Order: sequence, then structure tokens, then C-alpha cells
Amino acid sequence: MKKPTKLIHNHAGTGSRRTVNPPIERASTVILPDRKTLYSASPGYGRMGLAVQRELESAMCTLEGAQFSRLTPNGLSACAIAISSLVKAGDTVLISDSIYGPTRRFCERRLKRMGVKCARFAPRDLDGIRQQLNAGVAAIFLECPGSLTFEISDITAITKHARECGARVVMDNTWAAGVFCQPLALGADLVVQALTKYVVGHADAFGGAIMTNDRALATELEEITEDWGVSLSPDDAYAALRGTRTLVTRLREHETTALILAEWLEAHPKVAEVIHPALPSHPDHEIWKRDFSGSNGLFSFLLDAESIAELDTFISGLKLFQLGFSWGGFESLLIPCDDQLKRMKSDWTTSKKGYLIRVHAGLEDASDLVADLQGAFETMTGEKIT
Ligand SMILES: *Cc1c(COP(=O)(O)O)cnc(C)c1O
Repeated sequence: MKKPTKLIHNHAGTGSRRTVNPPIERASTVILPDRKTLYSASPGYGRMGLAVQRELESAMCTLEGAQFSRLTPNGLSACAIAISSLVKAGDTVLISDSIYGPTRRFCERRLKRMGVKCARFAPRDLDGIRQQLNAGVAAIFLECPGSLTFEISDITAITKHARECGARVVMDNTWAAGVFCQPLALGADLVVQALTKYVVGHADAFGGAIMTNDRALATELEEITEDWGVSLSPDDAYAALRGTRTLVTRLREHETTALILAEWLEAHPKVAEVIHPALPSHPDHEIWKRDFSGSNGLFSFLLDAESIAELDTFISGLKLFQLGFSWGGFESLLIPCDDQLKRMKSDWTTSKKGYLIRVHAGLEDASDLVADLQGAFETMTGEKIT
């Protein structure tokens, strides 16, 4: 069976249920039948998750081609816990400098206080990564493509080097949502996702998940989530599980609309560059074609504006695109993101011209979104371009 079929027919361990969906059991207490079961039942307590969480874990395993899955309350905790499960005091973790900002902050602030060193690498600099890989490196964390600048790391080459040096690789696969890329099959040890984005898909819940095919790592993840009391609420798990049913279908629509917008923007005189891995103009297009089977609604472009004031005028001219962090929902969003590019290894801010704007193409009709962008350009330049 293909993935969309499996996701729709995912009913883990539910023999006699009459409903298509599992019940949302809002429970701390689980009533147990006798003294013996009291100390052996699984789950014996609501924090370990009940029917909805089990089915979501199973769906996440389907998405990522994994045997084991653990849920966390949001994407950031999935990243933090995945890294923590691989390191101890004295180790070093290498992070790609295009990763989600708060994950980087976790490594550089929190892990540092626990005696774990952190070093960054530029996502497409394989030689740099190889040079930094030494016996002290316990883990490499990458996100591919980075969700602002869309560099594609060579996942296969990185996992191969890492294996030779005894380091583990974690990949944040939120962009591909487990649909367009299979990091575990490419050699990653752990894969994480912010379910908050495409899996939930409606901007109304949080969730995170960590998947692996390594039994020892799965045990470690089970222990670390239990030790830190990390769990996902049944309501958020339900929203994520529901999202898995339509994920592939929604992604196709996001993909089509984003490509229409990206190609339209690429031809626009006030756009210096469009950064979308599925466009032949993207520097990593060939690697993307090798390792990814599709793209989503997210990409960036460089707005050729004279000043911050002009950028503000552009934004003020938008009616459908709303300003807001996050992505993966039904709604189109856009953010200027130069403020977020505080990176060390890559020369992004110095080598590019214009203001970096990240676009999330929602599920509106593509022609309305093109018209909205057109209106914003006209507001910015004060002239009608035909
Ligand atoms: C949003 C995001 C996260 C964090 O997810 P939250 O659920 O908001 O904590 C992690 N990684 C990536 C790539 C993200 O886009």
C-alpha cells in the first residue's frame, strides 16, 4: 500500500472499535482491574498516552519508515530531547547553522550548561563538516532544507562520515513532513518533526515526534521522555492524527500553489532572487532532486526594495498574506526574516542583495495569491505594473 492509503487505514491495535477515529480520552487516571495489573499495565497512567497517542505514533512510523516513535508536546521539545538522548557531558554536538533558531539556542545555551559543547557548520560545506568531525563529536543535528534559506545538505554523505567517526545523526524533517524525504533510509539515526506545521495543518495545535529504527535509541528515548515527564495531550494528538489523513493531499496543493507563486516572483522585476529548492535556479536543485520527491508551500525570495520603509510599504499592501511565524496551516503567511539570520559559518547576509522574505503558500486559490502579491508590489512602487 502507498503512504496515503496506509495513513487513512491506520488503526493501530483497535479490534472492536465501531468508529473510524479513536476516542479522545482525557485521562490522568486509568482504572485498573486488580492489584497485579496495577503495577504491570501499559499504559498504567494517562501521561504515557492512550489510544489517540498510540495511533499517532503508528502514523508517524508510517510517514518516516520507522519502527519506533515517541511524542513530545511540540517540535522544539522533540529537537531538544532527540539531541539530549545522544549526548553526555564532555561531548560535542555539531549543528547546521540553518536550523530552527530555538533549537540552536537550546544547544548553545542549555546544553552548554550541561557540559556539552556545540559547534556550527555551514549546511552545504561537506569539507567543513568533515574537518569538524572528530572523536569528541557525539551527534550531528541538521535540518534540510533550512526553513529560511533552504540550503540542502548532502544527507547521505553526512551520515556516512558520521558513521565512520562514531557520531549519530538527527534530522529535523518538518519541511518534508515525512512525505518528501526519508532521512532514516538515507542513514540518519533519529528523525524529528514539528507536527505543529504540516501534520496538524490547521494552525490550531502543537505536537512533536521523534522516530528511529534503532531499538537501543528507542529505549533511550522512552527513558528520557519518562524521566523528564514529556507527553503530548490527547487533544493535540487527535489534531495531529486527523492531520495525517489529509497530509499528502494538502501537501500537493501547497506544492502546486507555491510553485506558481515562486515562478511568478522569479519573473518579477522587483525580486532579486527566489529561493525554492524545486526551481532549477536553486544551487542545490540536483541534490534536492536526488533525495526529495516533492516540495511544499514554503520558500523565500529577496525583495529588491530600497529601504526598510519600502519593505514596510510592500507588507502594508498585502491583504491575503498575513504576518505570522509558523507555517504548514491552511493560511498564507509571510515574514521578513533578515533579523533571524544570525549565523556564523555561512555568509548569507553579506552575499545577498535585498530583503529576505519567507512565504508560506496556503490553500487559497493561487490566482488570488498572485493578485495579492501584485497589489503589494504596486503599493510599494506606487505604480501599476501590467
Ligand atoms: C516550528 C518548527 C519547530 C518547532 O516546532 P514547535 O511545535 O513550534 O515547537 C522545529 N523545527 C522546525 C523546522 C520548525 O519549523
